[in-house]
Amino acid sequence: MLNFAVGPVQSEDDVRALGALNVPYFRTPEFSTTMLENEQMICELAKAPKGSRAVFVTGSGTAGMETVVAGTLSAEDKALVVDGGSFGHRFVQLLELHNIFHTVIKLNYGTSLTAADLEPYQNQGYTAFLVNLGETSQGILYDAELISAFCKANNLFWIADCVSSFLADPFDMASLGVDVMITGSQKALACPPGISPLVLSPKAVTKITGIKAPCMYLDLNLLLQNGERGQTPFTPAVQTLLQIHKRLSNIVKAGGVDAENARIAVLAKDFRERAQSLPFKMRLVSPSNAVTFLSTGNYSAKMLFQVLKDEYGMWICPNGGENADTSFRVGHIGAHELSDNAVLVAAIHDVQRRGLLTTRE
Ligand SMILES: *Cc1c(COP(=O)(O)O)cnc(C)c1O
Repeated sequence: MLNFAVGPVQSEDDVRALGALNVPYFRTPEFSTTMLENEQMICELAKAPKGSRAVFVTGSGTAGMETVVAGTLSAEDKALVVDGGSFGHRFVQLLELHNIFHTVIKLNYGTSLTAADLEPYQNQGYTAFLVNLGETSQGILYDAELISAFCKANNLFWIADCVSSFLADPFDMASLGVDVMITGSQKALACPPGISPLVLSPKAVTKITGIKAPCMYLDLNLLLQNGERGQTPFTPAVQTLLQIHKRLSNIVKAGGVDAENARIAVLAKDFRERAQSLPFKMRLVSPSNAVTFLSTGNYSAKMLFQVLKDEYGMWICPNGGENADTSFRVGHIGAHELSDNAVLVAAIHDVQRRGLLTTRE
């Protein structure tokens, strides 16, 4: 199968090969060394400020989001949260569940965040800002510089969900002043699902120390303490962590995060050029390099997904909710060649030629 979903995505061969091995025992100096290297490499790739820490939460990206909401915020916080799609909405649900005071900045889905959206919340006593820099469900990348200036001016603790944008879009944690960067193993990290890496600024590490999270497996204080010796409090997704080590090492060797950003940007640009020939409309409002959102108009996106899956051996990325039959997405993350884009676009033309691009009911 050729996989254009936005996660899980295709992995490099040497990352996949590790998945075939038996899972080693992990309370060893060797595994601790691997983990300490993982921490060092991910901080470097996030361009984290000096003194930052990283922990690796076992679970998908949502587990990382929940760990952060439960472990870095408390009753003393007053949070602002951007809801511009299903992942932003997830932060809102987590703040509700964990009883953190919050105000929602609700966007019309499919639009980006503007200075006017933030303006009413200047100097209103907020303490924290939660946003998913890449709103994967809409294919939109918010303006990190705009948010950075707002957070700095209002002294906000900035939690950035970069689950799909990390490695795909430019990101400089130190210069932006981000306090917590959340990502996931199955997006641009291109490993199997199971780990949510979190990068924590020195300010975040200090804040966490003063908070008692209402959970045990996702307790950031425990994760940080155990991480000092390259370990986790409980059994983690050991195999995925070893695959992450291979993948991070490969990125570092190939020129680091800027080179990886550039590689993904080329894939996205190439697809967007080729996709001009398709009978769909691309949404190119502030697009992330990770994904392209396409509207199918009268054509059934669900049927297209099914035909490509069953007859061409390809997965495109379906959308949920109201958009489910009128749009789909194409991911540019994972181990892809430029030629994969050509193969996908040719397949969609072939579906149309065969009369299988059907109109919606
Ligand atoms: C994929 C993703 C997540 C996490 O989703 P999981 O299914 O829990 O891995 C969170 N935020 C964004 C922006 C994502 O793209």
